[in-house]
Amino acid sequence: MVGQQLVPRGIVDERVLEAMGRVPRHLFVPPDVAPYAYADHPLPIGDGQTISQPYIVALMLQEARIRPSDTVLDVGTGSGYAAAVTAELAARVVSIERHPSLASGAAATLEALGYDVAVVIGDGSVGWPEGAPYDVILAAATSPSVPEAWREQLAEGGRIVVPIGRSGGAQHLALFERGDDGMLAETNLGGVAFVPLLGEQAWPVPGEPGV
Ligand code: SAM
Repeated sequence: MVGQQLVPRGIVDERVLEAMGRVPRHLFVPPDVAPYAYADHPLPIGDGQTISQPYIVALMLQEARIRPSDTVLDVGTGSGYAAAVTAELAARVVSIERHPSLASGAAATLEALGYDVAVVIGDGSVGWPEGAPYDVILAAATSPSVPEAWREQLAEGGRIVVPIGRSGGAQHLALFERGDDGMLAETNLGGVAFVPLLGEQAWPVPGEPGV
């Protein structure tokens, strides 16, 4: 996976490559798809959700430039895989998931593997103020824009990596960096295809009134 999918596509950060090589991805996916765990595409993980393609996980982590002292908010725990790779790179990881069944499954896998990740059940579109400020906010679900709550919870010099756009429509992965003036500068990292970020400060939850 590292040699064939990541390095040839420009993942050069040694810490990210080593972390991706260490985390046992096959233990984060349902048994029926475990034989394909290291394949070059997303996989279903239940509740209509997916574990992201390995390259996309690596790209997000590389662009976030996570330092060993950083506190990271991972929005969209899913299987817990990206949270585990993030935990290899950062000092503290909080991961938030709106589906209780996915959150509890991910928390169990992370604990069994010895990863110190705080898994929270909730709406990550409003962040998690209890753990703020965050040096990095990573989101594995596409949002209409950067939620105001994330701006408030981002540390000085912080980075946000999030897909922007509509699920099933045009989307791009974006890096937002907080400058000395407090403003967020955006870099477009290219087209992607993510599930929607559903919540109070993102896309409306089907069946619930929009804000
Ligand atoms: N990072 C995950 C992994 O490694 O398996 C994959 C995440 S999956 C592509 C996106 C996840 O975002 C889904 O599990 C979905 O339920 C979750 N999600 C969507 N909206 C959310 C929200 N407002 N708060 C928290 N999680 C959300």
